[in-house]
Parts: sequence; C-alpha cells; structure tokens
Amino acid sequence: MLSVASVSVEYATKEGSVKALRHVSFDIQPGEVFGLAGESGSGKSTLARAILRALDDNGSQTSGSIQYKGEDLQNLSPNALRSLRGSDIAFVPQEPAKALNPSIEVGEQIAETIREHQNLSESEVQSQTIEMLRQVNISDPDYCAESYPHELSGGMKQRVAFAIGLSCNPDLLILDEPTTGLDVTTEGKVLQMIDDLIEEFETSILFVTHNLGVLAEKADRVGILYAGEIMEIGATKDVFTNPSNPYTQGLLAAVPDIDRDVEIEAIPGEVPDLSAAPTGCVFADRCEFATEECHEGSIDLETVTPGHETRCRRLETVQSDPIQAELRDA
Ligand code: ATP
Ligand code: MG
Repeated sequence: MLSVASVSVEYATKEGSVKALRHVSFDIQPGEVFGLAGESGSGKSTLARAILRALDDNGSQTSGSIQYKGEDLQNLSPNALRSLRGSDIAFVPQEPAKALNPSIEVGEQIAETIREHQNLSESEVQSQTIEMLRQVNISDPDYCAESYPHELSGGMKQRVAFAIGLSCNPDLLILDEPTTGLDVTTEGKVLQMIDDLIEEFETSILFVTHNLGVLAEKADRVGILYAGEIMEIGATKDVFTNPSNPYTQGLLAAVPDIDRDVEIEAIPGEVPDLSAAPTGCVFADRCEFATEECHEGSIDLETVTPGHETRCRRLETVQSDPIQAELRDA
C-alpha cells in the first residue's frame, strides 16, 4: 500500500538546515494500522506531511522515495497529487481546528470535498454530507452541518475533520495526533470511532501519536521515531513486550499507569540539535547504557526477532536489563 524508503527531510532555516528526518523506512500493508510514536520534535508530523507532499515551504525531501500502490509520489503531477489526496489518501492533521475554515459552515466544508472527488448530484452530495457526520457519531448531524467551527466543541471539530478526511472512502488514512488535547471522554469516543472505521472500511492507517497506550491497543505494527530516525520497529506486541532500544524502554517507562498511580517519569535530557549531522547513536547523550562506541560511526537497524528491528549497539546489555524484565511482566 505505502512504502517509505530511506526518506530524509530537511528544513532550511536562518540558523542552518534542520535535519528533521534521516533515512526513514517502513511499509504499510493493506488494512494495516501502523503506529508512529516518539517525543515532541521527533519528526512525526514531518513524516506525515512528506507522505502527502505537503511539507512546509522551507522543507524538502533530500533522499529516498515514497511509493503509494507502487507509484512514486514524487513523480506525480500537481493535479494527480490533488486527486490522490482526499480520494485515495486522507489526512486528519494535528490540530484539526486549524484545518477547518472558520468562515464556512462545516457541512459545506464536507460537501466541498465530496463534490471535488465524486461525481454526484447536489442532493446526493447533501445527503452524503449528513451521512458522513452520522458516521463519525455526531448525534444531530443536521444541526452540526449548519454550524461554524467555532460553535463546536474540540471533540466535535476533531470528528468533523475525520468526516472530511473520510468523505471519499480513502484507502490510506493518515491521523496526526487524533486525540491530543481532548478530554478523556471525548478521546474515548474518537478512539471508538477509529475502531469502527477499521472494522467497517478496512482502511490502512498511519496513526501518529506520542500516546503509546493508544498504540498498544490500536496498532498492528509500530515505529519508534527519535530525532528523525527510526529507533525500533516491529509488530506492536513484539516492541511492547520486548522493547529492545533504550529509547523505547524510556518511553514505555514514561507511560502513566492509572491503576498503580505512579508518577510519569520523563526521559531526562533533551532532543539533540538537528542542524548538526549526528555521529553515532542520536540517543547516546541521554542513554544510560551508552558507552564510547555509541558515539561513533553510523548505527544500522539490527534484527531482534524476524520483523522486529532496533538501532542499538548495546542490544545484549539492554535486553538483559532489569527494567526490561519489569516491562515484560507488566
Ligand atoms: P510534535 O509531537 O510536537 O507534534 P513532531 O514529532 O510532529 O512533534 P515535527 O513537527 O515533525 O515533530 O518536527 C520535527 C523537527 O523539525 C523539530 O525539530 C521541529 O522544530 C522542526 N521543524 C518542523 N517544521 C519546521 C519548519 N517549517 N522549519 C524549521 N524547522 C521545522
Ligand atoms: Mg507533530
């Protein structure tokens, strides 16, 4: 369905070029939910936007290729790309409130997308608009359709953004932090809706989030991104029960455990300066396992078990660490 191969992205800034992604590779199979996790600034949104060829103006893909159903997205004409976005590939951006037009009724915004991508009569467009709102669990779709974005709650705006994304029955749905900023109840509703979508439409999903708990439930496979590099990738159960990268372990240890009421433990230290070309492991400065060798050369992904890879020179030490045993038993 989607194949991302060795993709690098840089942003030009006054201070130099920010290397936001370096040689990122992964595939998404038909019907698969692929989760992408990592701290703020790790490059998740950059990756989502690179796939959609919708990077900020100062950003560019400097290596690699992104193929959708075997076709290189870089070679598509602007027209072909436009029809692909919204009909084959849909995007629900981070902060959907900003993606909605504040001065147009939300029903009309959904209708516009439907008109653009499907050849329907106006009355069919109107009834499909209402149907889309119903599908995203809006209880009074007629009322909602006639509302402006500012009249809706955060959760409703989020669901309207979904309705726009889904109004053309996409094969690939890219969700960038779909539940961030929502209260727990609304988050639950949005997650339930994602479940329904997976079941009903068998859509492939790229699910971007920093919430590992959500990915543990929803994703078939996950990629853990840090400072623009995939640190660990594999089936969700393999990565979560046998985390083989100190960064993944740190993220998992930081997941708040509601039942046990433990403190959230953030990983100490900061994301490295992305304008300098890194040598060695990008996480080495923050890693309790790092030795001198971790600061040298380039470090490749290594197979842990088939389909499960990690980028770590100290794999054996990391795997025998008690933290990991604890995570495994949790
Ligand atoms: P968050 O969880 O906060 O959404 P993210 O993982 O989505 O973070 P990105 O938004 O992709 O991270 O940013 C990756 C890096 O690229 C960050 O260091 C960010 O500051 C930088 N960056 C993003 N957009 C630009 C831009 N237009 N110009 C310069 N740097 C940028
Ligand atoms: Mg982001």
